[in-house]
Amino acid sequence: MSRRKLPFKACVKCKLLVDEDVDVCPNCGSREFTDNWEGVVVVLNPSSEAARILGIQKKGMYALKAR
Ligand SMILES: [Zn+2]
Repeated sequence: MSRRKLPFKACVKCKLLVDEDVDVCPNCGSREFTDNWEGVVVVLNPSSEAARILGIQKKGMYALKAR
């Protein structure tokens, strides 16, 4: 049993979650991705307190941890 159900990979730089077939991060332009990520944060309002704490500047779906 896989504990990860979502078919995404995370950008190493900004932690944006993208589809497995994406080559370039649409958020920061990085080509480095990892399958080793945990947690999902959906940011709808980049000016919210939560986004500020996480250092997220654009709305989207992010991993909590990526390495
Ligand atoms: Zn990125």
